[in-house]
Amino acid sequence: MVIQAAIKTGAGAFDQLDPPDPELFLDCIHCGFCLPTCPTYLLLGNEMDSPRGRLSLIRTASEGKIGVSDSFVRHMDLCLLCRACETACPSGVKFGFLMEAARGQVERQHRYPAAEGRFRQLLLNTFTDIGRLRTLTSLLRWYQRSGLQRLIRGSAILKRFGRLGKMEALLPEIADPRLYALPEVTPAKGQRRGRVGLLLGCVQRFFFPQLNAATARVLSENGYEVVAPKDQGCCGSLLIHEGDRARGKELARQTIDCFERAGVDAIAVNAAGCGSAMKEYWDLFQTDSAYTKKASAFSTKVRDVSELLAEEPLRGALQPLNLTVTYHDACHLAHGQKIRQQPRTILKTIPGLRFVELRESDFCCGSAGVYNLLHPELAQQLLDRKIERIMETGAEVVVSGNPGCSLQIEKGLRERRLQIRVMHPVELLDWSYRGVER
Ligand code: SF4
Ligand code: SF4
Repeated sequence: MVIQAAIKTGAGAFDQLDPPDPELFLDCIHCGFCLPTCPTYLLLGNEMDSPRGRLSLIRTASEGKIGVSDSFVRHMDLCLLCRACETACPSGVKFGFLMEAARGQVERQHRYPAAEGRFRQLLLNTFTDIGRLRTLTSLLRWYQRSGLQRLIRGSAILKRFGRLGKMEALLPEIADPRLYALPEVTPAKGQRRGRVGLLLGCVQRFFFPQLNAATARVLSENGYEVVAPKDQGCCGSLLIHEGDRARGKELARQTIDCFERAGVDAIAVNAAGCGSAMKEYWDLFQTDSAYTKKASAFSTKVRDVSELLAEEPLRGALQPLNLTVTYHDACHLAHGQKIRQQPRTILKTIPGLRFVELRESDFCCGSAGVYNLLHPELAQQLLDRKIERIMETGAEVVVSGNPGCSLQIEKGLRERRLQIRVMHPVELLDWSYRGVER
């Protein structure tokens, strides 16, 4: 009670723990340029589910004219945090920072209905804990290898399991992690360019271990010594995205310390959501004097792997890949990190590969962290739109730089029985280096 009273002295409806910064929401000039780019506004047609409407709610709450009510929470929750509004905004409103801070307030001040609260906690506790994910993925591997998944998917039983059934639908084929175990240090080939840390991620590590192995090989081929510290955990991005800033900061501190100990020149990330959050640790720790400087130094070292590889011409001999490929811009790469050209440049460098642009490539696929599990109906509408666009391209491979998007798009392709593969740009580059095409 004492702590609650002490922190409840912030602006208006907000407590003083990282409230949304008025200097940021006052940048909004209400022009409305962001509205046509906002997926939730396009789907729901409601001003309060647009960037401008949400900013207005945050401002009004900050002035104490409204509270953190059920309605306020609903409009904050329905935001995908895709940040398409930031790309469209002529006034440079930092919407992502504001929404994350607003969700921090929701997390502390709002009580979800019991079942909803338990489901949210289940997701956040599972997808940010390496030990739990390890156990879960071993069980899921058994479920797939035993033939049980085929039986269950062939029946209508999953429909009875509500959200758990929807989670099952997202499951990719889980590889044996032992096949892709990475050494702690992969030496550089040829003249050494530097020493980079590799973020193994959570979903990435267990659902796409082949991608981490490919990333280490490609970086090594390009002259980087790759360090994958064994003691690294979750970067906290999902928790920050969902408003659990206290736990998100704890994981961020551990990530900063871990890569500081590794003594690396840069940190390579192959998951857009993680990279975006890590590049913004500097903001997260602005009021934590013990970590302000460390977080800023860390953030300047973070690079998406495509960004790092595009800094200099690619090395080594690339073999032709006879594939037609299209590219989906993950929101946290295109809008969050402003990285659009680098993955395309990599793909277009691969001989034989035919690149086809995707219409609305930077429109959210509905994945958005755990949004597709919390708001499956809206997410499905966005996924359907994405799959229609992919089908227009005639591509055999759709490329994405974020594991959440990959899972979501794979699910959409499976639903329509489309034989289109989903890959990361670095996996295709790795195939080209190794002369393999599966
Ligand atoms: S982050 Fe995305 S969903 Fe949220 S307001 Fe901006 S454009 Fe709309
Ligand atoms: S585009 Fe920017 S300034 Fe214009 S309404 Fe949207 S957030 Fe406000």
